[in-house]
Amino acid sequence: MGELNLGIIGGGQLGSMLCMAAKKLNIKTIIYCDDVDAPAQNFCDEFIFADYSNIEKIIEFANKSDVVTYEFENIPYETLNEINKVKSVYPKPSINRIIQHRLAEKDFVNKLNLRTTRYVLVEKKEDINTLEDFLPGILKTTTMGYDGKGQYPIKTILDFENLKINFSKGYILEKLVKLKKEISVIITRFGNNKYEIYDPIENTHEDQILKYSKIPAEINKEIYNLSKEWAVIIAEELKYIGTLCVEFFVDRNDNLFVNEIAPRVHNSGHLTINAYNISQFENHIRAVCSLEKVQLKKISNAKMVNLIGNQIKPYRENKNLTDKEFFYDYLKKEIKDKRKMGHITTLI
Ligand code: ADP
Ligand code: MG
Repeated sequence: MGELNLGIIGGGQLGSMLCMAAKKLNIKTIIYCDDVDAPAQNFCDEFIFADYSNIEKIIEFANKSDVVTYEFENIPYETLNEINKVKSVYPKPSINRIIQHRLAEKDFVNKLNLRTTRYVLVEKKEDINTLEDFLPGILKTTTMGYDGKGQYPIKTILDFENLKINFSKGYILEKLVKLKKEISVIITRFGNNKYEIYDPIENTHEDQILKYSKIPAEINKEIYNLSKEWAVIIAEELKYIGTLCVEFFVDRNDNLFVNEIAPRVHNSGHLTINAYNISQFENHIRAVCSLEKVQLKKISNAKMVNLIGNQIKPYRENKNLTDKEFFYDYLKKEIKDKRKMGHITTLI
């Protein structure tokens, strides 16, 4: 086989890590991103800076790539569809269309008879008068949300009345789950009933942003098995190719709920770089490029800490790490509040 060129849409830290994994496999990467400062340009072979609606640039990108994938889900369906006419896009654009919309995503999960929290579409402010049943809850934008952005906790109808938001953007109201734990399951599907699945990861959020992840998750055997089973059901139903992450809630009665699906590699899986023989990134690339599937082996338990905003600073200055600690700096140009700047994985 000649040289393989992988096109990746999106140039954040996930794109960077995909590029690093590709390099290991001797695959060339082309990043397409609408951010001129995209950190992944430090790690890719070629960088195209343009808008996601710039069809001319999109086609140029597709022509340079043998296969195209993406590092985040908020890409216009049309863009993925245009590329898919020229080159294979994995995961398929139709999958992304379901998952990038919170209502379509939750409807999809419920059709598989997998539990989610109760949810309802909210189209106008007056709707709330009939929605007391869903309180306390969280109002979320149906599209474009991440790291808790576009989310509003609603305890009472009064909170709702005081909100100054434009409802035409599309919102859903979700009943608050009384959380005991959050876990995620990462799975890489290579084709019909062919997949590699990582052990459930336990996640802790602060201000709705992921702060800590660790394996093993402290969960009972039933939840351990069920969460993996549900991840397989979802991946099979979507006929998914690549790495996918399912975020789950576990409530105080040990009920499992699907929170959301990420049709991509996931922040909670950063620890797979050091804790497994094959990372979620390498597995994603192996699947979308039709490379050989290697049996997954856990090397060590691990925990990961996200460095958010200024938290990166001391680590940039002091690199005194033990041989069990791995520091990653995403090389983002600007430190911003609530921005994920890097992480540390520790083998335990
Ligand atoms: P994002 O797209 O920003 O990751 P999520 O829906 O995953 O959005 O919400 C972020 C975090 O907010 C969750 O991981 C969880 O900690 C909290 N959260 C969101 N929805 C609920 C809910 N219905 N019940 C309890 N906690 C929730
Ligand atoms: Mg989430």
